Amino acid sequence: MTQISLTHDGDHLHEECGVFGVWGAPDAAAVVALGLHALQHRGQEAAGITSFDGQGFHSHRALGHVAGNFDSDAVIRRLPGIAAIGHNRYATTGETALRNVQPLYAELAAGGVAVGHNGNISNALTVRRALISTGSIFQSTSDTEVVIHLIATAQGPTFLDRLIEALKSLEGAYSFVVLTAEGLYGVRDPLGIRPLVIGRLGGAYILASETVALDVVGADFVRQVEPGELVHIDSDGLTSMRPFRLARPRPCIFEHVYFSRPDSVVDGQSVYEVRKRIGAELAREAPARVDLVIPVPDSGVPAALGFAQASGLPFELGIIRSHYIGRTFIQPGDGIRNLGVKLKHNANRPLIEGKRLVLVDDSIVRGTTSLKIVQMLRDAGAAEVHMRIASPPTTHSCFYGVDTPERAKLLAAQMDVPGMGEFIKADSLAFISIDGLYRALGETARNDAAPTRCDACFTGDYPTTLTDKGKLQPFEQLPLLAEHVV
Ligand code: SF4
Repeated sequence: MTQISLTHDGDHLHEECGVFGVWGAPDAAAVVALGLHALQHRGQEAAGITSFDGQGFHSHRALGHVAGNFDSDAVIRRLPGIAAIGHNRYATTGETALRNVQPLYAELAAGGVAVGHNGNISNALTVRRALISTGSIFQSTSDTEVVIHLIATAQGPTFLDRLIEALKSLEGAYSFVVLTAEGLYGVRDPLGIRPLVIGRLGGAYILASETVALDVVGADFVRQVEPGELVHIDSDGLTSMRPFRLARPRPCIFEHVYFSRPDSVVDGQSVYEVRKRIGAELAREAPARVDLVIPVPDSGVPAALGFAQASGLPFELGIIRSHYIGRTFIQPGDGIRNLGVKLKHNANRPLIEGKRLVLVDDSIVRGTTSLKIVQMLRDAGAAEVHMRIASPPTTHSCFYGVDTPERAKLLAAQMDVPGMGEFIKADSLAFISIDGLYRALGETARNDAAPTRCDACFTGDYPTTLTDKGKLQPFEQLPLLAEHVV
């Protein structure tokens, strides 16, 4: 028997994590569980919540989905208090094990501290080695743990001073939620690579990776945490600080293309509307003489709608996605080719038979899933399959908390667009241009001298130094305790 993966198909980038924090709500953990549920798309390997009830901290962390981990009153009752933070994990550094499930918690001289992190600290290996050489003892293999050790060894008189000192040692992408006995902190890295927003729920404050999580718990959106901003929330309200040197923000452009839910508002723009505009730009840049426009569901739907509306072509659901499959499935034998993709996606044969199709997807990473889907449509009788991609070719890996294969495994790093079209066996293949993507975001083109976004996976223009680049991840080198998780 072979286990096949139905979600980690290697042909999509995977978001790195979602964070959610509450200060001032009765049953804060229940609110956090709902918020994490709305952020499930950002990380599906594990979920955890840590609460503070005025006396002490309480934590529940487990592998698996939010619904499975926090579906009982008994679990929520074990997390009392008016303050709590939570985290959905998709491992980008550190292996999948319970010790890496966040929030991470430690007892420091200043008291207990719990940390949830969205992003990736790109100098974590270097910082970790330096800390170990001076006596720090690490418990997890997560890049996030370096923050706790940096806070523990910082010299400032207050927790806030130590937190700021710790943050200044970090490089890369981070949106943190930090819970202590005296308050909830939220912070975004100086470039604002990963998102973080503020909401109000009655008298409570909320911090969340995306606005959709505010909607789901019934909170009002207040504003985003600005790049380089640190907010402190306690019973006196919210205090904003700017501890970093001012930098030109470079939020991740891929949040709009794929990562964020379409019903979220990111950087002031509706993700759904941006995706439709991407589809419209794509139709202008790479039209096709076809009968139907169909999306690869679900992520290709808004861009396919935009493509269809801009080109005056019918939009149809030519591929139906099953919503009832788990993360993996037992394949009854090695010989059943393409079982995974067919369980997840099936061609709508009566619709597409004999038709010329434009097939819209958000990205191509390795090309393996695109190849299977094109073949599936041909097997179902499609006359032509023209693939259109709602992002430029993914030519570079991400070091900011998104799970990308090493560069050599990215299809676009190995061949040009016509070669990719041949690889996936499409009748034609086109990607939106980088300027077209910026136009969809309301700019006239990419400003090469001063880009307004991180777009490094398309351009190789990384907005930070990458101290650990080329080094083995710290955790691939370490002799680790084998941990058994049930
Ligand atoms: Fe986002 Fe790509 Fe930049 Fe990573 S490299 S932060 S996925 S734009």
